[in-house]
Amino acid sequence: MSELNIAVLGGGVVGLTTAIELQKLYRNANIDLIASGFQSDTTSSVAAGLFRPGTSFCGPNEEITRRWINDAYRYWDDLRNTSEGALAGVTEVSGYIFSSKYPNIVRNHYLENLVPVYRPATEKELKLCPGNWKYGSFFTTIVTTCDYYLPWATKKFLEKGGKIQKHHIKDIASISTGYDVIVNCTGLGAKWLCNDNKLVPIRGQVIKVEAPWIRTFFYGDNDTYIIPGFNSVTLGGCRQYESYDDNVNKYDSLSIRERCEALVPNLKSAKTIKELVGLRPHRSPVRVEKEVRHCNGQKIKIVHNYGHGGYGVTTAPGTALYACELVRESLAGNSKL
Ligand SMILES: Cc1cc2nc3c(=O)[nH]c(=O)nc-3n(C[C@H](O)[C@H](O)[C@H](O)COP(=O)(O)OP(=O)(O)OC[C@H]3O[C@@H](n4cnc5c(N)ncnc54)[C@H](O)[C@@H]3O)c2cc1C
Repeated sequence: MSELNIAVLGGGVVGLTTAIELQKLYRNANIDLIASGFQSDTTSSVAAGLFRPGTSFCGPNEEITRRWINDAYRYWDDLRNTSEGALAGVTEVSGYIFSSKYPNIVRNHYLENLVPVYRPATEKELKLCPGNWKYGSFFTTIVTTCDYYLPWATKKFLEKGGKIQKHHIKDIASISTGYDVIVNCTGLGAKWLCNDNKLVPIRGQVIKVEAPWIRTFFYGDNDTYIIPGFNSVTLGGCRQYESYDDNVNKYDSLSIRERCEALVPNLKSAKTIKELVGLRPHRSPVRVEKEVRHCNGQKIKIVHNYGHGGYGVTTAPGTALYACELVRESLAGNSKL
């Protein structure tokens, strides 16, 4: 009997996590991971990696969205509790979200019953940082540093017999020959690959600084955040809708520094390691669905998994598990199974 052949397109957090989950599901399958960029060439490597889905994050319906988020949290938390957790860059972190204007901003209906602690900040805690903070929450969650996770996941994938190809794909049909199913995790690249006008970049810029004394995360007003990771602290940020500018903007850097130092003044002495820009692949809803294309008499089975916006590190394992289910449905009746 011939073997099952699967291609996963995309080498960011979504593609790698999906590829690893597919290997667990189909132990004898040949799985190729094909991408034009890896590691530091992905949006994933820019992320702070905090597990915090935005309240607007959505899949096709509330039930599935919650399932993605809950499955993802369990995945990261389980990984954190293994001996591999530190190698994969996954750890627990606690911190604050403050707002001077809006009580709802500091609430998160996805997290409140999921993470171990999510509670209102006390009056004393509201005075921890300079600023006239009226509302606040304290919570404990997970942070995944992609500088660790992407290499770790790549190693796991290769150890289990996965193959990696560096290749820019112009058209899914052009690489489909020989594959039983293609799993499309190309992030913003899917905009062109699938002609998907619902997919929009939301530009973000961050500064990775050396500040080992920062062990707590802080969110303030106006897209200001300070998130400690494994090897650096991420200072952010900005959200620029439909901007394709992938250059570091010096005015954004000045604004990020000013806002973060106003929130946590001891950051003034933090040395900049690097400044990074990423285009968040925003789509509402996130697209995790099956498609069958007919091309030159050939039937191409595709499972899409893209459009995670600012929450791809958070939710990658949840949508990966769901995409695996869709792959199983797509392959039902395949004689190689
Ligand atoms: C400043 C910033 C901060 C963020 N902070 C967080 C955070 O704290 N928490 C969180 O959960 N998320 C965060 N995010 C969001 C997160 O980074 C994204 O949601 C996530 O990286 C998306 O992952 P992805 O694998 O879909 O895309 P990517 O990482 O962009 O990977 C896409 C892959 O597809 C490949 N590809 C694309 N097109 C093609 C093609 N035509 N042919 C071949 N290969 C192709 C690329 O080369 C790449 O390998 C942040 C993002 C930014 C920009």
